[in-house]
Amino acid sequence: MSPDSSLLTVGVPKETSAQERRVAVVPADVRSLKKAGFEVLVEPNAGFGAGFPDAHYVQQGARIAADRAELAAAEIIVHVRAAAADPQQPFAVGERLRENQILIALCDPLSDPRPIAALAERRVTTFALELLPRITRAQSMDVLSSMATVAGYKAVLLAAEESPRMFPMMMTAAGTLTPAKVFVVGAGVAGLQAIATARRLGAIVYAYDVRPAAREQIQSVGGKPVDFGLESAEGQGGYARAMDADFYQRQQAAMAKVVAESDVVITTAAVPGKRAPLLISNDMLSGMSPGSVVVDLAAERGGNCEATRPGETIDFHGITVLGPVNLPATVAHHASQMFSRNVTAFLGLLKKSLPQLDTQDEIVRDTLVTRDGQVVNAQIRERLATPVS
Ligand code: NAD
Repeated sequence: MSPDSSLLTVGVPKETSAQERRVAVVPADVRSLKKAGFEVLVEPNAGFGAGFPDAHYVQQGARIAADRAELAAAEIIVHVRAAAADPQQPFAVGERLRENQILIALCDPLSDPRPIAALAERRVTTFALELLPRITRAQSMDVLSSMATVAGYKAVLLAAEESPRMFPMMMTAAGTLTPAKVFVVGAGVAGLQAIATARRLGAIVYAYDVRPAAREQIQSVGGKPVDFGLESAEGQGGYARAMDADFYQRQQAAMAKVVAESDVVITTAAVPGKRAPLLISNDMLSGMSPGSVVVDLAAERGGNCEATRPGETIDFHGITVLGPVNLPATVAHHASQMFSRNVTAFLGLLKKSLPQLDTQDEIVRDTLVTRDGQVVNAQIRERLATPVS
């Protein structure tokens, strides 16, 4: 508890996973949090991996705890990854929390709801940031968009690193080099950032999305939309909806030629709450030239590419297929900066709603997943009632 009893303490732990270099709050946001009525208590070295030493937090008015155990005094704990969002150790964060503590984190509650049930049992109040409604008022809190921006950028760098080609056109005394052809499948937040990044490197970028609205957005970042003559698969809230096997077969057939002609394919297609659609079959891969590269950003959600192995880079008859996981952690400084800004905005809203949580507010209601020993989100309760496959 903070010395001034009207202030709430926000605890900033070091992330529990060894590969996770991000931190949930960066020094630059400590002052805003204090202005909003929070004290900030930081576990030693919490920001070190992202390039934020303890001294910078202290300069901005945060306190460094003696150790992790001291964070038990904080009313609120903000993590980057907790529950199923940290698949290697989904129960680790919960085991360190105490009754009535508030947890704010990415929790991936729909892929595995069991860690959420464990948080409820411990009587922790949990907010899962994936469940933020995509409304204008919540844009400043939209962690998924921030992390997708980072992932889209980094995917292009991984592809450029693996590719035996340079991306820009070059006219040199040793002849003219043609620009790389990049095809981006799925033009949501990550896809649009991938298009913009590949364009900055000088590639020619084609892109496709099942939502007709994406066409204009692709053009606005310098990409060339490809039209396969398929029907729209736009669903609720501007997201794609799941289609039947026949649609995906027709999509694969239509895309095969563009895939074969591309030096790099970056796939980002996702349907909320579902396995990622399978869009690039092994047959389609076989049509690509040796040395081509596929980066499958949907690897963690089942993959858009049949050959993808999450967390691995494989050689498929001369085609390199990358299935990166947790890419934002590899750009930890800026990913933390964005996450922290989002979470600071969320805490600002939450402060107005405490101590009684105002579940009339759509943002509070949608993100709240456990409270008073119960899982309070209907979709998660439903998932808990069905066995995890
Ligand atoms: P996402 O991660 O759920 O999916 C990525 C993309 O894959 C989407 O554009 C989707 O249409 C596409 N896709 C799905 N199936 C496909 C298929 N078979 N073939 C090709 N593409 C396929 O999406 P996202 O990046 O989170 O964004 C989804 C939408 O939400 C976009 O319209 C985005 O602009 C919008 N958005 C709105 C806000 C807001 O606050 N208003 C914030 C972020 C995103």
